[in-house]
Amino acid sequence: MLSRIAPGLCLATTLIATPLAVAAPSAGSMDAATSATVPGAVEAYRWFHANPELSNHEAKTAAHLAAALESLGLTVHRGIGGHGIVAVLRSKTGASKGPVVLYRADMDGLPVKEETGLPYASKNPGVMHACGHDIHMATAIGVMAALQALSDQWHGTVIFVGQPSEEVGSGARAMLRDKRFKKILASTGKPDLAIALHDAADLPAGDVSLIEGFHHANVDSVDIIIHGKGGHGARPHQTIDPIVIGANIVMSLQTIVSRRLRPDDKAVVTVGKFAAGTKHNIIPPSATLLLTVRSYSDETRKTLLAEIRRIAVHLAKAHRAPRPEVIVSKHGIPAAYNDPAWTRRIRTALVATLGEAHVKTHNPSLGGEDFGLFARDLKIPGIMFKLGAVDPKRWKRSGGKGLPGLHSDHWAPAPKATVHTGIRTITAAIVEGLRPR
Ligand SMILES: [Zn+2]
Ligand SMILES: [Zn+2]
Repeated sequence: MLSRIAPGLCLATTLIATPLAVAAPSAGSMDAATSATVPGAVEAYRWFHANPELSNHEAKTAAHLAAALESLGLTVHRGIGGHGIVAVLRSKTGASKGPVVLYRADMDGLPVKEETGLPYASKNPGVMHACGHDIHMATAIGVMAALQALSDQWHGTVIFVGQPSEEVGSGARAMLRDKRFKKILASTGKPDLAIALHDAADLPAGDVSLIEGFHHANVDSVDIIIHGKGGHGARPHQTIDPIVIGANIVMSLQTIVSRRLRPDDKAVVTVGKFAAGTKHNIIPPSATLLLTVRSYSDETRKTLLAEIRRIAVHLAKAHRAPRPEVIVSKHGIPAAYNDPAWTRRIRTALVATLGEAHVKTHNPSLGGEDFGLFARDLKIPGIMFKLGAVDPKRWKRSGGKGLPGLHSDHWAPAPKATVHTGIRTITAAIVEGLRPR
């Protein structure tokens, strides 16, 4: 969908076909450079894990990450789109001759009370890095250190983005809208590729997984406010009962995915909240439904939202109620898409780094991830892959079943193996992205 890259490119053909080709770092030098960064990255992980901050409040987190990047000699721009930070690393070999890769890690924690009992558990009551964004930041420190150490062995520019407020879906958009972010991109040139990873509770540490095409969904929130006419529960004929209308709407919404979409088109319409009334014998004047709506393509997204409106408006009309309010949140996030040609290139690089057995594929998720906005907004290909984070021994004992998932109060990645694999794989993926155009 977003590809500007001819399909079928692979590492070997790129090198042969490109007269500009310079020696990329060898496997040996990448191994040495990435391994050297692991102790510092794991220490940073423990700090991030112990000091989580909620979305829109990542001030100390951003400052800690910025300081770590500054200690590598990078210039860090702070306060972009809220608490976002941006660091630019140019190769020593002549950045202007090479590609530009945008690499993003998110920084926010969740309103979860940690129950892991770890010695480095959250010191911030009721807040936890339960999604593993601490892993992402620690990995980023290692990656930027390794790329800095190897910066005489690649051409181009790496733009590191420390993004706030991923969990509330607003951070990527806020950064992209910030004039200072646009100015940085004007100075580096538009990125050729956007790249990120997310830790995974359904893969052992040491493994990664990636898929071509959509990997996260369009996420929309819809409020439906049904206006009826309140009255006595014993005299329903004198009222317009918004609860009965709401119940009709809830049931009819179930037909959108099952009867309006193609059977192979994946989507979800969930009513997460139905609020109305105060007491047994009072028919209330209004009722409210809160929906989450998930899809992959722009077209399906449009269809779902139009059908929801149609059903709500016409069912209210059928019951002689005023036109209901159907409010689609402006904070919806678009689906995230892995460019197929780039996915194949990056997979080749990951297999060369970890071995075939450790590079998996998975089913796309109907979860949300605002990383997709970087690729969509800048009209560039994007790649996101999953990073296994479960202690491999625990994984083996459990057969991968019954383990705490992301957002769980017991989510406890295996720091060293996860961060090490994250640093090795993202470094390899970025180096692949930096191969001459
Ligand atoms: Zn999350
Ligand atoms: Zn997350």
